[in-house]
Formats: sequence, C-alpha cells, structure tokens
Amino acid sequence: FAGAIDADAVIIGAGPVGLFQVFELGLLEIKAHVIDSLPAVGGQCVELYPDKPIYDIPAVPVCTGQELTDNLLKQIEPFDPTFHLGQEVTTVQRREDGRFNVETSIGTRFITKTIFIAAGVGSFQARTIKVDGIDKFDNSQLFYRVKDPALFEGKNLVICGGGDSALDWALNFVGKAESVVLVHRREDFRAAPASVAKMKALCDEYEMQLITGQVTGFDEKDGALSEVKVTGADGVTRRVPLDMLLVFFGLSPKLGPIAEWGLDIERRQLKVMDTEKFETNVPGIFAVGDINTYPGKKKLILSGFHEAALAAFGAAPYIFPDKKIHMQYTTTSPKLHKILGVE
Ligand code: FAD
Repeated sequence: FAGAIDADAVIIGAGPVGLFQVFELGLLEIKAHVIDSLPAVGGQCVELYPDKPIYDIPAVPVCTGQELTDNLLKQIEPFDPTFHLGQEVTTVQRREDGRFNVETSIGTRFITKTIFIAAGVGSFQARTIKVDGIDKFDNSQLFYRVKDPALFEGKNLVICGGGDSALDWALNFVGKAESVVLVHRREDFRAAPASVAKMKALCDEYEMQLITGQVTGFDEKDGALSEVKVTGADGVTRRVPLDMLLVFFGLSPKLGPIAEWGLDIERRQLKVMDTEKFETNVPGIFAVGDINTYPGKKKLILSGFHEAALAAFGAAPYIFPDKKIHMQYTTTSPKLHKILGVE
C-alpha cells in the first residue's frame, strides 16, 4: 500500500462526534487522523445550521453550530490531530495483519490499527443539475463550488440557485465577472433577506440579471458549453449565452462507499454489536454518532459524545495490547494534565 501513512486511529467524519472522538482518544494517548469530504470541519452543525442555537449540550446553555465546532476544535488542540479535508474515504480493506488499508478520493492512503466511523448521515455532496449530458462540462465550465474565484473573473456567468451560496457568489461576482445572470426556479429565496434586497437593487441598476425559471437544456459550440436554455414559469424558453455555469442547489448526504465495506447495515445506519464499545461487526472498526444504530439510539450530539468515550476505551487494546487502560479524571490525574499540557 505504497505511500501510506502509518496510523493508530483514523476517524472518518469531522462532525461534532468525530471531533470529540479525537479528544477521547487523545486522553488515552492515541493520536488520530481525521478525514472529511467537506472542505471545513463541523459536519451538520456547520453545513446545515451554523447560526442556529443548540440548547441541549450539557453545561452549555446555548451555543450555535459554529460555536460548538470552534469550541470542540479548541478542546482537541492539545492532541494535534491531522486533518485531511475535502476528500471522501472511498476504500476500507482489512489487511492480513489485522490492520486496515484506507484510501480517499484524492489518493491519500493510511494503514491503521483502528477506524472510527463518525460519518453522520453520510458524506455531503452537491446536488447536481438534472439536465441530460451537461455533466460532461463538470469542472471545466460547470461548477458546484468556487475554489478559485479568479477563474470566473471577466467571464459571462450563469448562477443557479436561491440560497445563500447562490446569492453570495452572484453578489460577489458583480463587477468582477463580465456579466452575471442569476437563475432561480421560484420568486422567493431561501437566502438572507438583505442579500436578496441587494441582488434586486443590482438588477434594477442593470448590474446583473435575474431570471425566474429552470435550466432545461444547453447548446455547445466546438465542444464547449455556449448557452443554456432557461424555461420560465410562463413556459417560455430563453437562450442565455455563457462561459461558466455555477450551480448551488445545496448539499445532500450520501452513505456512498461506506455501504461497500462489509459492515452490517440497517436502514442506512451501521449496526454496532453492543453499547459497551460501539464496535461494528468488523473488529477494529467502531461507529459513533448519527451513523450508528442500536436499541434506544437517539441521534443527539450528547449521545454521540458518550459513544465516542466508550469507543475509545474499546479500541485501546488494538493499539496497546499489553497495557492496562484505566479511566482517570481530568480534574485530578497528573498524567492527564501532562497529556493536556495543563501542568
Ligand atoms: P455529522 O455532523 O453528520 O458529520 C458527519 C461528517 O462525516 C460530515 O461532515 C460528512 O461530510 C463526513 N463524512 C461522511 N461520510 C464520509 C466519507 N466516506 N468520507 C469522508 N467524510 C465523510 N442535535 C442535538 O443534539 N441538539 C440539537 O439542538 C440539534 N439540532 C439540529 C438541528 C438541525 C437543523 C439538524 C439538521 C440537526 C440537529 N441536531 C441536533 C443533530 C446533530 O446535528 C447531529 O446529531 C450531529 O451533527 C451528528 O454528528 P456526527 O458527528 O455524528 O455527524
């Protein structure tokens, strides 16, 4: 498994539970690598509700999804986890020596003694535009996220969607792109009202254009996407010439490759053998947080935190077969103080 990183623990998913898994492993002196398909950590909390308040984290009367994530990152700082973001774990294979080969969509490889699947509802992927054949322009003229804004400057852009991403990028590119046309299927927008108001003002000033309708077809010239066909609510189809098409239809979670790793699955969830270790049917692979199922399971962050603590203890014998593992209090244990760097 050439070029693989040698690891004790690989955590799949950097949502709140994956992040707290780093902490619980850290207390047992197990260093973790954390992989997420998204470019940022935080899972559902950051992707779906960064500004919404959460009221049921023990001893935190209220915090937003983003604040919870920031605090978790601060809490795990002493353990210095290595993050591998923007890549999906595609392969997990048991090796003859009992460890696992793990590989991501961009070819990062690990050989690890244990795996913690904290994959929530699956990896978030951009909802694609449903127009036959248009996918051949993926990443050349059709984009679902903006990695390098410079690529779009001076170009004729069509931006599809009615949420914050679509509006934010449309507003951002006005004045930088040659032209900006926003296409949204309905009159109302999910985006922040202030952004919608700003967009409408820019349309009134002819700085950009809004079309209510859906992309239903396209045309190409010399192998390049040259225009999209936008069908309006009035049933009229308009041709809109463009250089680049940006689509922001939100993200949808997909269980994806996890289904192919030989793990027991029940209704898109990973079954764990017991609630002592939260280990799956494959010894050495643990499942914590929203992805797992067992009698009485509640998809709550606090339940995931508890599962992460027990899974860490369950995994320790794979990493330190000869060591007796004791539970210690962070308040009073000199050893944990040293590990936490708070001596
Ligand atoms: P997630 O947060 O789903 O994170 C999983 C991560 O794994 C994702 O980032 C995903 O990209 C990644 N991933 C998946 N598969 C792969 C793969 N193959 N390779 C790489 N990465 C992968 N809970 C509460 O306790 N209190 C609340 O008040 C509350 N409010 C909520 C409000 C809303 C609107 C929603 C949607 C949920 C709420 N929840 C709440 C539920 C809570 O957000 C989840 O229980 C929690 O996010 C689960 O955390 P997790 O770490 O298990 O998974």
